[in-house]
Amino acid sequence: MTWQSPIAPGISWYQATLEERPAYPRLEESTSADVAIVGGGFTGLQAAYHLAANGTDVVLIDAARLGDGASGRNGGQLGTGQHWWPEDMESKLGPERSKAFFRIAEDAKSHLLDFAKTHGINIDFQPGQISVAHKRNMEFSFKNHVEALAERYDYPHLSFLSKHETEERLGSNRYFCGIRDIGTGHIHPLKLLIGTGKAAATAGARIFEMTKADNIEQKEGRIAVSTERGTVTADRVLIACNGYIEEHLEPGTAAKVMPIRSFIAATRPVTKSEKILPGGESVDDSRFVVRYFRKTKTGELLFGGREAYTADQPKDISKHLRRQIAEIYPALKKIEITHAWGGNVGITMPRRPLVHEIMPGVTSIGGFSGHGVLLSNYCGKLFAEELLGQSSELDLYRDLDIPAFPGGGALRKPLLFLALTWFSLRDRF
Ligand SMILES: Cc1cc2nc3c(=O)[nH]c(=O)nc-3n(C[C@H](O)[C@H](O)[C@H](O)COP(=O)(O)OP(=O)(O)OC[C@H]3O[C@@H](n4cnc5c(N)ncnc54)[C@H](O)[C@@H]3O)c2cc1C
Repeated sequence: MTWQSPIAPGISWYQATLEERPAYPRLEESTSADVAIVGGGFTGLQAAYHLAANGTDVVLIDAARLGDGASGRNGGQLGTGQHWWPEDMESKLGPERSKAFFRIAEDAKSHLLDFAKTHGINIDFQPGQISVAHKRNMEFSFKNHVEALAERYDYPHLSFLSKHETEERLGSNRYFCGIRDIGTGHIHPLKLLIGTGKAAATAGARIFEMTKADNIEQKEGRIAVSTERGTVTADRVLIACNGYIEEHLEPGTAAKVMPIRSFIAATRPVTKSEKILPGGESVDDSRFVVRYFRKTKTGELLFGGREAYTADQPKDISKHLRRQIAEIYPALKKIEITHAWGGNVGITMPRRPLVHEIMPGVTSIGGFSGHGVLLSNYCGKLFAEELLGQSSELDLYRDLDIPAFPGGGALRKPLLFLALTWFSLRDRF
């Protein structure tokens, strides 16, 4: 029977094309561990793997099935660097910190690809990424970015694309210029997620699905994570719930990491004669409500866009995405859409990840702001290394100032809705 994620709408093409998806049991009784992890996305599973592989007794629980969160349902684009371009980060954080963040993202890239290779996970990696400008006046900043990365960040993999070159590479004349990055690429995220889960379980992590954490509190010098049928008691806890964090579980994280729902449609395979993305790169555009698309290894167009800022379930996900596809590829106006789905992107105010301690022994990590395929995996690893005394690199993120969204409990979501709607309207002018 086809599994419907209880926390996100639609069946993803990723899920539909998976050969195997192992099931993990529900937690049926109380247990104890060195480390308890709440949330089985990339962050939680990477932490579980690295801890277990180094002899730590780990229990990981997920409210749904592994891959039902953002990690198994995203655009699969690895990108380069952080959410902000390094030259923009320089002005806010200074050149040294900006360089450190760039380097960490490059380390994250190598780590992801090496991890998949070492564990024999076929992630369908395809090279190449193109960022495109939806406004004419962006040419200067695009050229400047290519130069800055080559000259100050020792990253020679970017090239500027003129309007004509962008058209050739995309098979669409809707954008004004672009940047091609041959130092990155895109993957089948659910295959990576499932493979990471298997690696963690093989290393000895105890994984439980359909097991929701209802409460986290300190008890007799340890931390108790309670669920419907049992409590996990541990010395350390990682909360890795990202855009699915609930206020009652951890109000401090919920105030700083808010969900935006993003949606993706998969079409029937496009043909060579349709001349769409002949070089196989993935694409993201410069809109505030980003449109991101790519072809899979078997030729289906995966097109992401249309964000929603309320909790209402959309009635017809594919209708809006079809309109957006047609804006870029008018010839695909009537193309068959085989799958359409959505998921929560966890964002923070400054669009930088949140790493913070909510009480002694309890760390919360999330808010990768649409840039988490690389960074969530790596932050999970860094968390494990920190506990193992092998690295303190996570401090780079911990030291960032991530404020709460304004408005307090009741007003936070409506205010975010208004702000995001305003920014998304600006995409049109
Ligand atoms: C549609 C979409 C497209 C995206 N595209 C890209 C992209 O192309 N490139 C990119 O870099 N990033 C992209 N992202 C973002 C990226 O997917 C995330 O940043 C990343 O996967 C976050 O991983 P995570 O482990 O922190 O959280 P998640 O993968 O969201 O995992 C959180 C987990 O916590 C569990 N959970 C929540 N509450 C509880 C609880 N109380 N008890 C137990 N478990 C709980 C959930 O069930 C879930 O499995 C996209 C996201 C979406 C939704």
